[in-house]
Parts: sequence; C-alpha cells; structure tokens
Amino acid sequence: MSKSTSKHWRDLDSQHHLHPFTNHKSLRASGATRVIVRGEGPYIWDSEGNRILDGMSGLWTTNVGYGRKEIAEAAYQQMLELPFYNTFFKTTHPPVVALSNKLAELAPDKLNQVFFGSSGSESNDTAIRLIRHYWTLKGEPKRRIIISRAMAYHGSTIAAGSMGGMPHMHKHSYPVYEGFRHIIDPYWYGESKDGETPEAFGLRAAKALEDEILAVGPENVAAFAAEPVQGAGGVKIAPATYWPEIQKIVDKYGILLLADEVITGFGRLGTWFASEYYGIRPNLITFAKAATSGYIPLSGLLIDDKIVDALMSHDDDFNHGYTFSGHPVACAAALANLELMERESMVPRVNTFGAPSLARMLARFKDHPLVGEVRSVGMLGAIELVADKKTRRRFADPGRVGLICRDHFFNEGFIMRAVFDTMVTAPPLIWTADQFAEAETAIGRALDKTLSDVAGEIAA
Ligand code: PMP
Repeated sequence: MSKSTSKHWRDLDSQHHLHPFTNHKSLRASGATRVIVRGEGPYIWDSEGNRILDGMSGLWTTNVGYGRKEIAEAAYQQMLELPFYNTFFKTTHPPVVALSNKLAELAPDKLNQVFFGSSGSESNDTAIRLIRHYWTLKGEPKRRIIISRAMAYHGSTIAAGSMGGMPHMHKHSYPVYEGFRHIIDPYWYGESKDGETPEAFGLRAAKALEDEILAVGPENVAAFAAEPVQGAGGVKIAPATYWPEIQKIVDKYGILLLADEVITGFGRLGTWFASEYYGIRPNLITFAKAATSGYIPLSGLLIDDKIVDALMSHDDDFNHGYTFSGHPVACAAALANLELMERESMVPRVNTFGAPSLARMLARFKDHPLVGEVRSVGMLGAIELVADKKTRRRFADPGRVGLICRDHFFNEGFIMRAVFDTMVTAPPLIWTADQFAEAETAIGRALDKTLSDVAGEIAA
C-alpha cells in the first residue's frame, strides 16, 4: 500500500472512529500513527510495508502468533455449520461442550465448570456477581466486599473498573461501585522501603490483606481478587514470599480467591494457568485474550466445585449471561488454538526456551544508565526507566520518557508498551533465537536514543 492509501485510512479513521483509552483531542489532531494491515508469525506489517516485531502479542493476546490457518479454518467451518446459537434456554451445541470439557481438563484441580463471555471485563463482572450470589446462597449475604489491589486492571465495565485499582479508571464512574477496597500491590521496586528485601516486602504487602480484612470486618468480606502478575499496571512480579502468605490469609478467613488470569492464562508463565506456577488455589479464574490467541473474542470464568455445589443445592436462578456466552465460532477457534498450543508444545517450551531467553535478553540492559531494574517471569518482562539508578528517582512528569522510548522502539520496528516509565513486553510464545536477537538490537538502540534525548535529566 502507498503513503496516500495510508493517509486515506488515517483520515477516515479520524472522522468516525473513537479509540479506546485515548485523548480524543490529541488523536484527532495527530491522526492514528500507523495503520496495521497484516500479521504473520511474530510480525505485523503497517500500510507502508514496514515489518514490525510485536513484543506485546497484540495486547497480551496472540500467544500462538499471527496467521495460523488452523484457527481460521476451524472458525470458517463452524460458521458454515452453525454460526450462532444461544445457550440460554436449556440448549447447547458441540463446540461449547467440547471447549468446556477441554478447559476443565487444563484448569487446576477443582475448577471444573466454566461460564463464558466475550471479554475479560465481562467475565470479571460474572465473577463479581457470582461471588456475591454464592455468599447469599451460603446464608451470609453481608459478605459483599471484594478486596483487590492498587493499580490492578480488571476491565473497563463499571463493576470490573471499580474492582480495578487504577485511579484514572475510577474517574468516569464516580461514585465507584460500593463494596471494593484496594490494598498495596506487591511492587518491590516501586513500593519497598530503604533496605527492605524483596522477601520482607512480599510479606508486608500480603499482610496488607489481613489488615484490610480486619479493618472492614471479616464477616463482610467476600473475596480477594488479583492478577497473579499485575500486567497493565506494569508487569509487577510479586516476591516469592507473597503468594504463599496470601493463600494462608485467604484460608484463615475463609474468603474466596479470584485469580484474574486474563493475561497470565494459557501458557504465559510456562504453565496453563499462573495459579499453578505460584501454587495458589483460586476458587475462580477469569480468562480471555489468549484463549483464542485473540483470533476472535472469547472469555470465561472457571469456577470451583465448592461454588458449583452451592449453586446445585439451591433452587434459585443465577440471573446473568450474555448473548454470546459460549459463541460456537469462538469456541471452535479456542479449541483449535489450544490444540495448536499442545501439538507444538508451546507451554513447556516457555520453560525450556522462552523464559530463560527473555530473562537473559533483559539482563543485558541492567547496567544501562537509564535502567533502574529489569525483571521477568515466563514470557512477561519489564524495564524500569529512571533518572537516577542509585536512588530509583523517577523522571519528572511520569510517562513522558516512557512514551519517548516507546516511539523509539516503534521506529526500530519493535513494539513494547509504556506503563508510565516502565517499558513492558509480552512476546508471543513462539519467538525463536532470531526474534530475541532482533528485539535485543532494537531495545539497545531505542534505549540509547532515549538516553540522548533526556541526557540532561540523568543523575551523574
Ligand atoms: N483483566 C486483566 C488482567 C486484563 O489485563 C484485562 C485487559 N487488558 C482485562 C481484565 C479486561 O479484558 P477486556 O479488555 O477483554 O475486557
């Protein structure tokens, strides 16, 4: 496509398309930066023919990479066979049955039922309603409070947005739905005190859950909700002491544990679900994104036997569901995606190749003058950009330097996302040594260019 074709798409885009999470005034003035037209394996192409290495899997989503014909073929065949039917009125269909069974097989022990949706936000809303319904069925309707964490992202609907802990997400839905409380996130680099070890900090961050339970009264608390690794908040990886302590506290007070695995589900940490990786026993797991590797929307909530037993032992409706719950085409695509991941051993390969390669690549930048910390777990990684490595002092105007760096990445033909001044990456699980080498070159160049842009602000 030519430059004039790109301009055509950009101009039309500005006229009628409002983008998510956008400053509309500034986007209207600048127009969309790029028009993405194609994807193949780990790469995407823009309308001017530039090939870009996608270090974000679209949006933490395309775990198997782009252009897998097996998924497209399965969706196509299902569209011809039965493009849609609902699952409301005591009806079902083969793809939803097969996918439910497959997910029960892959999910941690005891999580044997699944309730489908089309987005992570929707499935978190399902979780919120189901958690409160559960406690009502158990005769404890006062248990309504769900505790989650600062900077958590659980979605953009009003309920999931209220459960999330990002202040800017609460801005438009004020007053935020009642019944949510937020505790500190286990972000050692940003939140620890001078000299506090990751282990000590992990215990302190977990203890915040117990403090909050006691502050609001244990009899009022329904659940704790968290991402195993906080993704959109900046790939914040809890110290090793955190999750075991959280599980102890959840058990001690008998509250439910909701693991939001919208990012971490389907192999990102080298296990089908990150709950296995951290040895936690959630009662509910939300998933979305990589269930279909993003080829078509599908999400869901995995539910454990304890909650299902409560549903089964009461003659009471759970009045909740979506037109597209268990959409046949989405289910067929998900099945093809999961089969592909199994056939190509993508999940174990994260342990043997992806995770160590990502860790090694990021480690090469830890001595760069701009870099305060690098960290990774599985195929999730982050680089902290700071003005002063020694004191961890940030740049003035948080997010400014992150955006400069992100633009340099883009110009190097590589995508990483900026969360304020934390650069985050979530490559597809299929990267080979070639893509790691390419990413390393792009990161090195982009960091050097960013450094020369902000050289005057760096501590000597
Ligand atoms: N939970 C987590 C952990 C997420 O990262 C996201 C999206 N990035 C969501 C929920 C919401 O998913 P969706 O955008 O599909 O509604």
